[in-house]
Amino acid sequence: MIDEGYIKFELFWEQQPNDFKFDISNLMHWRDKMHELNLIGNYPDLGIGFGNISQKFEKGNEFVISGTQTGDIYPIAEKHFTTVTNYDLAANSVWCRGPLKASSESMTHAAIYEFDESIKAVIHVHHMELWKQLLDRVPTSKADVPYGTPEMGMEIKRLFDEENLATERIMAMAGHDEGIITFGATLEEAEAVLMDYYNQLD
Ligand SMILES: [Zn+2]
Repeated sequence: MIDEGYIKFELFWEQQPNDFKFDISNLMHWRDKMHELNLIGNYPDLGIGFGNISQKFEKGNEFVISGTQTGDIYPIAEKHFTTVTNYDLAANSVWCRGPLKASSESMTHAAIYEFDESIKAVIHVHHMELWKQLLDRVPTSKADVPYGTPEMGMEIKRLFDEENLATERIMAMAGHDEGIITFGATLEEAEAVLMDYYNQLD
């Protein structure tokens, strides 16, 4: 079953237009690339979007992420992004500011950024075939850990500590059908890790 798209953390949302002090065009570019490959998109039967992407522009906890339920939109526009201004993994809380609520996967992105300051980009995609191939071949979150929860944050920490997630820069989510996450110092790096595996598909 597809468990996607609804927010499981407490969200404090300051609704206002974006006012970015930096250029997010590269983030928009890679988001649309992912959409073209149907790695970010939506399940028409269910009417829910999947996949999300974020980039960190400044020091601290802030990052820019695609808004919730924007998976079907193409091409993406600046107004479909929002800023996570802060998060508290233990308290299961996220603060965001922008025209849309932050992606339901914001907590997972935060858990990745938490590991190391050098990580500046996170991509979460869905792909059934690739997901099946990656399960237990790359660092894999346990099947009983659902997406978007403090448990997933803890599980990601475990994958950094006990498996070599920091060097692999890709993980499969056993408890989130089709769910794959890649990350890097740049979006290009995160995408390249994903494409290495994607291009090996038959
Ligand atoms: Zn997902």
